[in-house]
Amino acid sequence: MDRLVFSNIPESAPESRLTEALPIEPGVDMLADEKSTPTPLPIQKNNSSNAQIQVNSTERIESTSHIIAGDLLLVNKWNPLSSGFIPDELKSLKVDSSNFLIPSKDTDTQLKRHVLDAAVKMYNSSLESGIKDIVISSGYRSYKKQNYFFTKKVNQLKKMYPEKEALKEASTVVAVPGTSEHQTGLAIDLTTSELLKLKKSDPLDASFAQTPAGKWAKENSWKFGFILRYLADKTHITGIIGESWHFRYTGLPHSQIIYENNFCLEEYLDYIKIISPLKYIDYTGTSYEISFVSHYKVNVSDDTSICDVSGDSRNGYIVTKKLD
Ligand SMILES: [Zn+2]
Repeated sequence: MDRLVFSNIPESAPESRLTEALPIEPGVDMLADEKSTPTPLPIQKNNSSNAQIQVNSTERIESTSHIIAGDLLLVNKWNPLSSGFIPDELKSLKVDSSNFLIPSKDTDTQLKRHVLDAAVKMYNSSLESGIKDIVISSGYRSYKKQNYFFTKKVNQLKKMYPEKEALKEASTVVAVPGTSEHQTGLAIDLTTSELLKLKKSDPLDASFAQTPAGKWAKENSWKFGFILRYLADKTHITGIIGESWHFRYTGLPHSQIIYENNFCLEEYLDYIKIISPLKYIDYTGTSYEISFVSHYKVNVSDDTSICDVSGDSRNGYIVTKKLD
């Protein structure tokens, strides 16, 4: 299949996106996920699930959490989630006290329902491919939990640095609350049972990329709607160092387009805005139309061909339709 060509980032890209990345310091804490580059703390936006969208002067519609938290929702240090953002339809990996849909490091791991379904398909496919030891080490993480980890790190560092410096240093090893994709319920961290045995305190490190499981996941996760979210050569755009273990659900066909073009999510959203509408047939033969719209006023349930509507956190919405 022909590869799409990404020409340029539009001039309207956020200024911070065009700023040189600051030096990256390696993290030491497994909670470093996501290990970001130093940055000022973000200003939170009100993107709670009951926010309203202004359509025109006479019509006002209530947005749904589906719009605010679609599969292409962008979360990074420049587009943080609010402290009140909690994804709907979270589902536990746990079947009963000793059985999990996918082996999991923690007993209380949750993901959005459809993301968990996709992860189960991916896991079963890995088993069929002879990969026997994939383990989910992290799924949904609440703002409160992220805040706990971040505050703990700040308090540790305050013993060595002034508070402002401690905040800055902490943000290099622990994601600032609101900026972790794990708050969306769309992200998973993968490891292996072997790595867990060898490095119990820090299974999230670059060694996952060298394992058969890591190589398989990198090459195959897109088929199940996941992208390797933080590529090492995209740090200047994502603000996060390369993470071979962190996979983000975008759904098909987006994951296939992103994989084939070596995009990061930020680049893909810019690309769709430029090329919209994009017609695309994914590897299963399903046809889609992907459009960028600045205002969205069709109720999702009114058009059954619409399979996803995502706020791009900046200027509008990405509407994905299945075509007959
Ligand atoms: Zn992660």
